[in-house]
Amino acid sequence: MKLVFATGNKGKLREAREILEGIMEVVSPADMGIYEDVPETGTTLEENSLQKAQAYKALCGLDCFADDTGLEVDALGGAPGVHAARYATDIARRDGLPEPPDHDFAANIDALLSELSKHPGEPRTARFRSVVTLLLDGEIHCFEGTLEGRIADRRSGSGGFGYDPVFIADDYPQCSVAELPEDTKNAISHRGKALRAMARWLQERE
Ligand code: IMP
Repeated sequence: MKLVFATGNKGKLREAREILEGIMEVVSPADMGIYEDVPETGTTLEENSLQKAQAYKALCGLDCFADDTGLEVDALGGAPGVHAARYATDIARRDGLPEPPDHDFAANIDALLSELSKHPGEPRTARFRSVVTLLLDGEIHCFEGTLEGRIADRRSGSGGFGYDPVFIADDYPQCSVAELPEDTKNAISHRGKALRAMARWLQERE
């Protein structure tokens, strides 16, 4: 089986290929010469992942799946949440400062650590939540996965992407997710859980 993963994020694509290896072939929009940036204007992970899946389906005409991931930090009242990709942009706008572009991983981590530094002594518990939406034969199917952990005081590691250098998973409390081998991250991650749920569902309906 072959499905399009509706993403332009190379880190997500690499992970999905590893997670779904032997189960399906994962094709990217870039493999088909599609490099469009799809807007994420929804207010929930479900809305955004559906929006991405539908946008890429319109662009390539093939069944596809998309994921949207949020980071919920308890001391920040659940922020950045669904705004994880543009947290630094939101904070800069709030403070009247020059706005970095969305998906600026370094700026997003700086904003997160800076906002958390205003909550000394509070728990730094947090979780990633991924929703994968599959568009198949005209139907919509959703799968979810979460990863519990906490936000470190500083960055460590160079693997993964996004907030991985400051996220410490409860399953591996000695290091950041960016210091875990990729297959270890994929075995415990929010996206790994959601994608394996999708794969199980696809295998059961065969
Ligand atoms: P989106 O699903 O691409 O909108 O992701 C939202 C934000 O969360 C982006 O800044 C991503 O880099 C970040 N993000 C998504 N998945 C992960 C992950 O597995 N680890 C760390 N950061 C992630």
